[in-house]
Amino acid sequence: MTQELIETVDVVRPGKGLVVAIDGPSGSGKSSVSKEVARRLKLAYLDTGAMYRALTWYCLDRGTDLEDGAAVEAASEIFALEISTSPHEEYVRVGGADVTLAIREPAISASVSAVATTLGARTELIRRQRELIEKHHHRIVVEGRDITTVVAPGAEVRMLLTASEEARLRRRGIQLGGSQNAEQLAAQVTHRDAKDSTVVNFTQAADGVVTLDSSDLGFEETVDAALGIVNSIINHTVIHRD
Ligand code: C5P
Repeated sequence: MTQELIETVDVVRPGKGLVVAIDGPSGSGKSSVSKEVARRLKLAYLDTGAMYRALTWYCLDRGTDLEDGAAVEAASEIFALEISTSPHEEYVRVGGADVTLAIREPAISASVSAVATTLGARTELIRRQRELIEKHHHRIVVEGRDITTVVAPGAEVRMLLTASEEARLRRRGIQLGGSQNAEQLAAQVTHRDAKDSTVVNFTQAADGVVTLDSSDLGFEETVDAALGIVNSIINHTVIHRD
């Protein structure tokens, strides 16, 4: 079916842009699903959440007061960020330091919303994200919270990956190796989403955005469903353009 079709095609839409924008809350399986979709479609991959995490790491490392919006904005403009855009390799470096693992620490998860709700810093990170999309000639899967609506509203494929709160808490709990109690988990998932949603709406699909609910789907099933959505949109687009 659709997935097999995509797997046998070496390059999907050769010579044309194919931006796949995927938004969703934490624990929806966004990162792993997006990365696998990029691998299967042979596209680049950008985890924009990692950029907000890297900026948070930089601010905490140099003692920037996260409540000081002007200082956070200034930090966003000067920090030297290198991030992998390959779905086969994961790295994040700030000023040459490897922060790939450090940005996943609970201390960063607890502070990242303060940085992400600083509008000036968002403007700068969005600028850098668009630059990376451009650099990859618009052939990239980009995942985050505001990709379908703000960063790349003109993307060929726009998807909102959702999951019930129960499923999200369960997945995040497994991902963290069961080391967190219910309250810590809720702080990392539900409370963070509540703070984040004060600046971006990632709970309801905007016009033209397809919702994929993964609550009752396993990983492979979610990837298949996402590839099916890409496939149907591409075919539809081709019919309309040709
Ligand atoms: O996706 P992840 O959970 O790693 O994102 C970390 C944080 O980065 C989110 O909680 C949110 O505050 C911020 N973020 C954002 N906009 C995006 C991606 C992430 O505000 N496009």
